[in-house]
Amino acid sequence: MTSGVNRPRVVVVGAGFGGLSAVRGLRRAPVDTLVVDRHNYHLFTPLLYQVASALLDPSEIARPARALLRRIGNADLRVARVEGVDLEARRLHTSAAPVEYDYLVLAAGSVDNFFGIEGVEERGFSLKDLGGALALRNRVLRQFERAMWTDDANQRRRLLSFAIVGGGPTGVEFAGALSELIALVLRKDFPNLDIGAVRIALVEAGDGLLAAFAPRLRRAAQRALERKGVEVRVRTSVTRADETGLLLADGTHVEAGTVIWTAGVYGADLAGAVVARPASARRVAVGPTLQLAEHPEVFVIGDLAEVQQDGAPLPMLIPVAMQEGEHVARSIAAMTAGQALQPFRYHDPGIMATIGRNSGVAQVGPFKLSGFIGWCAWLGLHLIKIIGFRNRLIVLINWGWEYFRYDRPVRLIAAPRGAPDTAPPDGL
Ligand SMILES: Cc1cc2nc3c(=O)[nH]c(=O)nc-3n(C[C@H](O)[C@H](O)[C@H](O)COP(=O)(O)OP(=O)(O)OC[C@H]3O[C@@H](n4cnc5c(N)ncnc54)[C@H](O)[C@@H]3O)c2cc1C
Repeated sequence: MTSGVNRPRVVVVGAGFGGLSAVRGLRRAPVDTLVVDRHNYHLFTPLLYQVASALLDPSEIARPARALLRRIGNADLRVARVEGVDLEARRLHTSAAPVEYDYLVLAAGSVDNFFGIEGVEERGFSLKDLGGALALRNRVLRQFERAMWTDDANQRRRLLSFAIVGGGPTGVEFAGALSELIALVLRKDFPNLDIGAVRIALVEAGDGLLAAFAPRLRRAAQRALERKGVEVRVRTSVTRADETGLLLADGTHVEAGTVIWTAGVYGADLAGAVVARPASARRVAVGPTLQLAEHPEVFVIGDLAEVQQDGAPLPMLIPVAMQEGEHVARSIAAMTAGQALQPFRYHDPGIMATIGRNSGVAQVGPFKLSGFIGWCAWLGLHLIKIIGFRNRLIVLINWGWEYFRYDRPVRLIAAPRGAPDTAPPDGL
């Protein structure tokens, strides 16, 4: 890192999509940039579900943050958890040591929102980070190994039933990938297991899957999942999760040995550190320049920020975080030059989701694609967007291997000692 004596110090909390965009945008500005993240890697979240469904390895969807930052001359990294912000003193409190700033960019993302529903946080597997995806992969594989040990048909059915809560892209994509893992790969691994006992349910409180998509694409996605044997339950919400599965608001019970929660997120805990009353979904409300009202030297971006545009808050999406990061970099450069700031305006590049092999939905401007073409669009875009040439190549090889050989190379039950679900409980 090149460091100037009197250069302002920009501290960026979070090496995610928003934070890294801001750092890249500041590479030629007369500032020094310090990124603080609790992890030493940048995570490509759209493919987390492929780690959880034993298709990709963590190293293929994450890149060391230092590798990404080392080509940026004015940037450095400290790994620590940010625990608080002293806005008056312009200082962060971290798990390591205090960090002083002249400008602060908060890009700490979001965390799972379990809406206080009984049993969900304790029993639900989450798909929000690498640890969660690995725990879920272990769980799925472990449930099949457990099922081999029981002669009790009821117990086997319970072990092999999976309930996914949340019909957004993550829930839909994981449901499709899980059904294919079982139908195409585990069926061959476990020839003596009654695969007919497997059940995958997807529960969504809204009136259909993929709420952000056009009605035709939403229906196509549901049909594609149902063809894969996923039981889709819409217009009903979860009221409780226990060891038998889920209790729904309509009074029905969904049997499930494993519950996967993809039904909601809210702003990271840091929201409470900078505003007394966070906005909806516990985000930090900021105006069109993305600054805190009382502290113009503090910017909030990405999932953590609630930015209104055309009467509605912008969604928690990668392009929103990245465009906000780029905008904040321009704003900080303008402030150091004594220039006025421009308001932020989001340009929507489109949305996509995949539902297993040969099936996807994509909505880009006036184009609405589904089926094989939608799937090709999804594949192409995600391959381009994965960070790093090595990752791109390995992901392409893994996808090709899976596509032509119906095989998932990383179906290993492996986790650090002491991590959840590495030892067989229940005497199995
Ligand atoms: C499974 C999944 C799939 C998704 N798929 C898509 C998709 O296909 N397309 C899409 O547009 N969006 C998708 N999203 C949403 C997308 O990931 C987010 O909108 C985006 O990552 C937000 O960027 P961000 O910079 O605000 O936060 P993030 O990218 O989440 O980065 C936040 C960073 O802050 C760090 N951090 C958090 N708290 C602290 C702390 N206290 N101290 C230090 N560091 C901290 C984290 O470690 C992380 O590195 C998906 C999300 C998930 C979970």
